[in-house]
Amino acid sequence: MHIPALLPDELLGGYLARLAHLNALTSGAAALDAMYDDPNRPRNGACTSPFELIARVVGADKAHLLRAHSLAPQALAVRPGRDPIRHGDPRALPLKRRWRDDVVAPAVWRCPKCVNEDIGFWGFAYARRSAQLPGIDWCTKHGVALQRATAPIGESAAAPVDLSPSESRYAEIMDAILDLSQSIPLTQASIRLRQRMQQLGLRTRRDSSGPTMSGLVLSVLSRRWLERHRPHVLNGGGSADLDNIHTSPLKPFAIQDYVLALTALYATADEALTDLLRPLDAAERARLDDLVRRRRGKQDAAACTDDQLAQDLHEAARQ
Ligand SMILES: [Zn+2]
Repeated sequence: MHIPALLPDELLGGYLARLAHLNALTSGAAALDAMYDDPNRPRNGACTSPFELIARVVGADKAHLLRAHSLAPQALAVRPGRDPIRHGDPRALPLKRRWRDDVVAPAVWRCPKCVNEDIGFWGFAYARRSAQLPGIDWCTKHGVALQRATAPIGESAAAPVDLSPSESRYAEIMDAILDLSQSIPLTQASIRLRQRMQQLGLRTRRDSSGPTMSGLVLSVLSRRWLERHRPHVLNGGGSADLDNIHTSPLKPFAIQDYVLALTALYATADEALTDLLRPLDAAERARLDDLVRRRRGKQDAAACTDDQLAQDLHEAARQ
């Protein structure tokens, strides 16, 4: 099998499709199957997930593959618990074969200017990871609208997009999160968001007063963006998720809502990220331990699950 080198920012699904083309296989999924079926592949138990298998075949580090060529850093940006988990950490959530669909998924979007640049430089265009981020339908390098990867490239469609400051801020935060080497602990994210909401006088408890998080989002994000990316927020459908973003243990992986909240809560991406990424300090950890002990009647706070912790935060906010 001919194994081409992975290119900068290349999406794994696009890479597999390129590899399939070079080896006369029908699809990226067929290329992955061929890797699994290769009698020469290592069978020591280390190649159980597509990431591990592809890393072995292309000679890359699995953590690098995850961090630089997949959307996993964004999908796994906020994970349960108090401590960060390094992306690709073998002790973390095993990335088993159920990730197969994500790994082989082809690119949906592409930038016509990036395509032309790639053809000029590499001689061909390839699928870029940075064009697949939820809520960013423009190329952050060229400032033009992304096109569907299946559509013909049209120069007329490469018109500059008129972005609002909040749209740019959303993209900056999402881009930065994609570059993180480890997850943000759910407990930390919940606490930081609640602190900022309280600082701005937003409603953090059901029985308190003040503007809501969803109300703030509606006033900050443009109607164009909301209609296109979060229409359920416009008609009230996503309000509960946003209003409880600082407490809800329900969707630790819902990065779009986190980025949306941060975009609305801060004037700059730098401020938002500095706050969000600030680890829990000793006093905050001690307070969490105390909360858990009080609410659960347990001596060993570590025995409580992450969901219980998040629920405790929720209850603490109501006290
Ligand atoms: Zn571009």
